[in-house]
Amino acid sequence: MDDPEPEQQTNGHHHLNGRNPVLVLNHNYEPLNVCNIRRAIILVITGKAEILEAYDLDLMTARQRYDAPSVIRLAYMIRRPHPRVKLCRREIFIRDNYTCQYCGQRTHELTIDHVIPRSRGGGHSWENLVSACRACNHRKGGKTLTEARLRLRREPVEPRAGRYYSIERAISSSVDEAWLKFIPEFHVLPNGFSS
Ligand SMILES: [Zn+2]
Repeated sequence: MDDPEPEQQTNGHHHLNGRNPVLVLNHNYEPLNVCNIRRAIILVITGKAEILEAYDLDLMTARQRYDAPSVIRLAYMIRRPHPRVKLCRREIFIRDNYTCQYCGQRTHELTIDHVIPRSRGGGHSWENLVSACRACNHRKGGKTLTEARLRLRREPVEPRAGRYYSIERAISSSVDEAWLKFIPEFHVLPNGFSS
């Protein structure tokens, strides 16, 4: 029989929700992704993972008390394909380093421009979408590069997912310090950029 969902011990001010993410390591300690505490506890209870680091919190179920996992390691190796970067506005801005690909201006006010305009059959692809400031986007309008007399500063290509891609995209604030020995070069992605 399954244990009921683990609940936080009612000892005051700790709230276990999305703010306590759990780092999931492969059997060989390679960082894989991030899950929530409930999912991590289920993996531990079913023998599919062990707890390497714990938050300073207790979790209670009807039958048992658990440490709240912060880092878990899978009991077996899983293979997964290298993740691909999701094609969306934010990832295009990140690829382009928040820089207009026509004039080179770094700005928060970026738009997405179709290099070959949609009206000319330009597609929704990494190769045809670039970050553009409002002025350049306006200047380009429905024209081609030649017609608008604009040049791209860099050829747009699909970016490669970095080794912490899944983790970076799942985390928006600082991580538990206990994680850092498993993901030594990890840094939280800035939301936009700081000038
Ligand atoms: Zn521009």
